Amino acid sequence: VKENGKDDYLLHSGEMDPVALHKLTLQHDLRKALLNDEFQLYYQPQYDLSSGQIVGMEALIRWKHPKRGLVPPCDFIPAAEESGIIVPLGEWVIKEACRQNKAWQDEGIPRIPVSVNLSIRQFSQRNLNEKVADILRSSGLEPRYLELEITESMTMDVERASQCLKELTELGVNISIDDFGTGYSSFHYLKNLPIARLKIDRSFVRDIQQDPNDAAIVAAIIAMAHNLSLQVIAEGVETEHQVHFLRSHRCDEMQGYYGSPPLCSEEIGKLLRDKLNR
Ligand code: C2E
Ligand code: CA
Ligand code: CA
Ligand code: CA
Repeated sequence: VKENGKDDYLLHSGEMDPVALHKLTLQHDLRKALLNDEFQLYYQPQYDLSSGQIVGMEALIRWKHPKRGLVPPCDFIPAAEESGIIVPLGEWVIKEACRQNKAWQDEGIPRIPVSVNLSIRQFSQRNLNEKVADILRSSGLEPRYLELEITESMTMDVERASQCLKELTELGVNISIDDFGTGYSSFHYLKNLPIARLKIDRSFVRDIQQDPNDAAIVAAIIAMAHNLSLQVIAEGVETEHQVHFLRSHRCDEMQGYYGSPPLCSEEIGKLLRDKLNR
C-alpha cells in the first residue's frame, strides 16, 4: 500500500474517523448554506450607562439550518475558520450589517453604529481595507457607523496588525478589542494599536458581586481605559447589581441580557422605532 498513492488514499478515506468526517460534512454544508442564503444576523443592543439609551448594537451571526433550526455561532464558526469559509462568510456579515444599518437610518431611526466580529483569518487578508471600503461605498453607510471587533487572542504579528488597523481607521471605521482581559498580550495591543474601545469580557463581569478580585479587575480595566482615552463597554451584564457597580465605576456602556438578548432584525427594528415614537 505504501508504494501506491491511490490505494493509500482509498484506505484512509475508508477508515476516516467520525470526527474528521463530521468536520468535512460541516464544511461542505457551510459552503452550501452561504450559497443558499441560510445565514441571518441578530443584533444585541448596547446601552449608555448614564442615559439608559441604546447607543450601539453588535451583529451576531446565526445559521437558519433547514433541519437543525437556529444554529449558534459556537457550533460552526470554528469549522468556518479552519476551512477558510470564514472569509466569504465574514464578508457577507459586514455587507449585511452595513446594508441593514443604512436601511434603518433611511427610515429615520436614530443613527447608531453596528459592531461586527472579525475573525483572524479575515484580518490576515491583505486587501481587507479595500473590501471594507467597497462595502461601505456600495451600502452608502458612513464609516463611523461601522465598528470592527477584534480579539486579543488573535495570535498575530502586532506590526502587521497595527498597519492593517491603521488603514481601517483611516477609512473612518472604529476598532474595538473584544473579550478584553482573556488574551495574553493586552498591554502590547493597547500600546500599539489604534483602537477606540475595550469590551470587558463576560467572565470578569459575571462574578462581580461574589468575587472581590473580579470586581477589582473590572474597576481597574475601566480606570485604565479612561486614562488611555478609550471608551469601555461591559459584556454579559445580567443583573441590576452589575449595572450599579459599572455605573458607580463610570463604565460607559453595557451589553447583556439585563438590557436585551440578541434580537432578529424585525425585533430590534421595532425596538428602535418604538424608542423614536416615545
Ligand atoms: P462575542 O463576540 O463575545 O459575543 C457575545 C456573546 O455573548 C454572544 O453569543 C451573545 O449572545 C452572548 N451574550 C450576550 N449577552 C449575554 C449575557 O448577558 N449573558 C450571557 N451568558 N451571554 C450573553 P453568540 O451570539 O452565541 O456568539 C458567540 C461568539 O461567536 C461571539 O462571541 C463571537 O466570538 C462569535 N461570533 C458571533 N457572530 C460572529 C460573526 O459574525 N463573525 C465571527 N467571526 N464570529 C462571530
Ligand atoms: Ca464580539
Ligand atoms: Ca465578547
Ligand atoms: Ca467571547
